[in-house]
Amino acid sequence: MKTIIEPFRIKSVEPIRLTRRDERERYLAATGYNLFGLHADDVLIDLLTDSGTGAMSSMQWAAVMSGDESYAGSPSFYRFEAAVKHLMPFKHVIPTHQGRAAEAILFSVFGGEGRRIPSNTHFDTTRGNLEASGAFGDDLVIAEGRDPRAEHPFKGNMDLGLLEDYLGRHGDAVPLVMLTITNNAGGGQPVSLANIRAVAELAHRFGKPFFIDGCRFAENAWFIKTREPGQAQRSIEDIVRDCFGVADGMTMSAKKDAFGNIGGWIAVNDDVVAERSRQHLIRTEGFPTYGGLAGRDLEALAQGLREIVDEDYLRYRIRTNAYIVEQLDAMGIPVVKPAGGHAVFIDARAWLDHIAPLQYPGQALAVALYELAGIRSCEIGTVMFGSQPDGSERPAAMDLVRLAFPRRTYTQSHADYVIEAFGELAATKDRLGGYRIVSQPQRMRHFTCRFEKIGA
Ligand SMILES: *Cc1c(COP(=O)(O)O)cnc(C)c1O
Repeated sequence: MKTIIEPFRIKSVEPIRLTRRDERERYLAATGYNLFGLHADDVLIDLLTDSGTGAMSSMQWAAVMSGDESYAGSPSFYRFEAAVKHLMPFKHVIPTHQGRAAEAILFSVFGGEGRRIPSNTHFDTTRGNLEASGAFGDDLVIAEGRDPRAEHPFKGNMDLGLLEDYLGRHGDAVPLVMLTITNNAGGGQPVSLANIRAVAELAHRFGKPFFIDGCRFAENAWFIKTREPGQAQRSIEDIVRDCFGVADGMTMSAKKDAFGNIGGWIAVNDDVVAERSRQHLIRTEGFPTYGGLAGRDLEALAQGLREIVDEDYLRYRIRTNAYIVEQLDAMGIPVVKPAGGHAVFIDARAWLDHIAPLQYPGQALAVALYELAGIRSCEIGTVMFGSQPDGSERPAAMDLVRLAFPRRTYTQSHADYVIEAFGELAATKDRLGGYRIVSQPQRMRHFTCRFEKIGA
């Protein structure tokens, strides 16, 4: 059979509330056109993020019931720890309430004034945390990774020439080398196993620890299996173990590829780094055998980690995005190709080329999608990345709109509805205008800033 089906059936459903266009315009105006400000029950199809929004399995819900809430030494922690170590062979596994807490701990150890930290592309919370420590982040993804239309099987790869040059130039200022798999801010694009190994080798040659931001490790492994020569016959678990086997540590948001609604961890081999991390953890998150999570959360993650490496799931997961990308591409809508792992990215700067980057074409598209069809998406562009540490502003590398798919949550008819909405927008997009920001916080402004329509 050629049809790739959702490899599950539905045991429990949540109703979606249908809304009218005039209602949606009112809701959005009240939030200052910031989609993060909407009430979720005013959203029809919520593609804001794939973070913590997935459906847990019946096995995960069953595991929740066996959660042990002991403050110290809960058996739930040991089951969680074993599930992580089964895939990621690090000596110390330290749970946190989500990924950014792991990042805050990482940069409390490795960050600081004057430090420079390279990655393929730092995600927004990673950048926010390292900058808050006084450090500076640099994105060294390959040139194809910056070009929405360049076809390359591993557009998330680090540019090895740039990295070598960087390590030579900044030497002592570099406390560690990072790599994000898949490269979320760069379109959910994968990193090859060969690139992961080469980055590790370079980092170690310069005496630097190598850390992986592993949020979407299973999706990345699926791309390695299906695109990298020599990997097709290998199991996802083996590929995952190879990826992390060359690293000195990792940070993780378990709200992504662990099927969790909440959770994260930092894992390291070095005993001193682990000890300093645990000290920070105790001050900010909790005791090291729960780290800001309930025992039942740890149980859900342990089971989720067993399910996420299932090949039938990953085949369906990756196909969902490829299907939408193919349809939008056929309509002439500029999309990031090939399709990423967790999301579809529309090149709003190219599609709405009458809106200048500093008038936020991505925001204009995200607003239009919600007003027209009740679909919530997320701008990944100048709103998210354009604000500079000195308070100035400049266009981000790309102005993308991300449609991120929650795991196991929506079906193919939802995907078809999204495709139809883009067909409608194509007819009227030239009339969309830009936006200006009227209030914003100092860091990570996209979550809470307010906009005005230009010319309205
Ligand atoms: C989501 C994400 C994070 C942060 O994790 P949270 O659980 O949202 O705090 C870090 N890096 C990447 C690549 C992510 O996708």
